[in-house]
Amino acid sequence: MRALLSIDYTNDFVATEGQLTTGLPGQAIEEALVSLTQSFIESGDYVVFAIDAHDATDTYHPENKLFPPHNLIGTKGRELYGKLFDVYQENKTNPRVYWIDKRHYSAFSGTDLAIRLRERGITELHLAGVCTDICVLHTAIDAYNLGFKLVIHEKSVASFDPIGHKWALRHFKETLGAEVNP
Ligand code: ZN
Repeated sequence: MRALLSIDYTNDFVATEGQLTTGLPGQAIEEALVSLTQSFIESGDYVVFAIDAHDATDTYHPENKLFPPHNLIGTKGRELYGKLFDVYQENKTNPRVYWIDKRHYSAFSGTDLAIRLRERGITELHLAGVCTDICVLHTAIDAYNLGFKLVIHEKSVASFDPIGHKWALRHFKETLGAEVNP
C-alpha cells in the first residue's frame, strides 16, 4: 500500500502575503500538486495532510526564535492554499484522507503518523509540498530511518531557496535512495 504525504501547502507557506512564503515557486506547483492528490484519492490510496500547527505564545518552541510566527492555530494562514483547499474540503470525510497537525518540520516528530501508516499496511510514501529542503526533507529522513520506500514528486515540491531545493532533490536520490519523479 502507498500513501501521499502532502506537506504544509498552506497560505502562510504559499500565498504572496503568507508569513513564511515560498512565493512564486510554491504557487507554481499548485496544478501538479492538486492533480497528484486527486490521482491518489481516485485510485483509493491514502492521502495524509501533514500541516504545521503553531502557537505564538509557546516560548519553548525553537521555531519561534528562528522564524516569524506562521501556521498559527485558528488562522487563515494555516488553511490549505488555492485549489488544494477545495480538494481537501470535498474529500475530508473519505476515510482514506486525513489530516495531522505537526509541531516540527518532520511529519513523524511527536505525531502518531508512523503507527497509522503501519496499521494500514503502507510501506511506500510519496512526498509533496513545501519546503523541499525543510519540512519535506526532514520528513523524508525520518521515513528513511523507519524503512519506508520513498518517492518524491519533483514537480510537486518547492522552496523559497533554489540552492536548498536543488540540494535536497539530490539528497533524496543519492543519500536516501528515493525515487525522484520528474
Ligand atoms: Zn513551522
